[in-house]
Amino acid sequence: MTTAPGIPTAAVSRLVTYLRILEELEREQILNTSSGVLAARAQVSAFQVRKDLAYFGRFGTRGLGYTVRLLKRELTRVLGLNRSWNVVIVGMGRLGQAIANYPGASEYQFSYVGLFDVDPDLIGQLLEVPTRREQHVSIVKRALNEPRRLPIEHIRDLAAFTAQQPVDLGFLAVPPEHAQTAAQSLVEAGVKGILNFAPTLIQPGMTEGEGLQEISDEWRDVMVENVDFLVGMKRLAFYMLNPQLKDQDPEGST
Ligand code: NAD
Repeated sequence: MTTAPGIPTAAVSRLVTYLRILEELEREQILNTSSGVLAARAQVSAFQVRKDLAYFGRFGTRGLGYTVRLLKRELTRVLGLNRSWNVVIVGMGRLGQAIANYPGASEYQFSYVGLFDVDPDLIGQLLEVPTRREQHVSIVKRALNEPRRLPIEHIRDLAAFTAQQPVDLGFLAVPPEHAQTAAQSLVEAGVKGILNFAPTLIQPGMTEGEGLQEISDEWRDVMVENVDFLVGMKRLAFYMLNPQLKDQDPEGST
């Protein structure tokens, strides 16, 4: 699977890992680094690091390595983490509530703006979500995670909600049998990015066009990413039983 011609999806995943390592280095007050250091911490080869970075641009200076702050800024930009993303969570059961409570996303400009469900017992409940608030302290911007309370709203009100408030992403945390319907609600409300936690594949909406089935207009530029920790568990079980096969998947490992 690739993201763009010649850019493997695994390279994008590794970029996220390199960014996390650069943040670690910054916390350790290390100013400069190299592909060797990034490789050792990411458990890949230095060649892999240089190859991954080369997909996205020319970073660093040959022989001198990378300035941690600059490479971090560039990777943040490449990954689209220098802009803010408004997120709604659809499905406010166990997982939806756990996601909403987790402060990690807000550190990366992901901001929860709406929570949706169908359960009458949940609708109207207020839930505390972390938000990112920027505070100017002299010329230094300091981000504070300030909790905020959002009401859980009915999914049928989602389109009216997005008409008032721009929403970029929808996190789908509904049971698998409701995932397609809930995804359709997101797309009809104009949400273009779906992070699907339900263990089922979301099918794009289709229409009949000149006798052929084609992806409907509203679904055409929708991106779906699937997240499933059970996949990780099963892959782990497989590699525990077949350790000799682990190294044969260099693009797949992160
Ligand atoms: P849950 O039953 O506790 O919560 C599901 C919620 O979705 C309920 O509140 C229900 O009312 C709501 N819902 C149902 N249909 C809806 C619709 N059309 N629109 C809006 N809300 C709707 O379930 P859970 O344990 O939170 O799990 C949620 C999903 O996440 C399941 O599909 C589960 O398999 C999956 N899951 C994935 C991971 C992962 O790693 N990706 C981990 C845990 C659970």
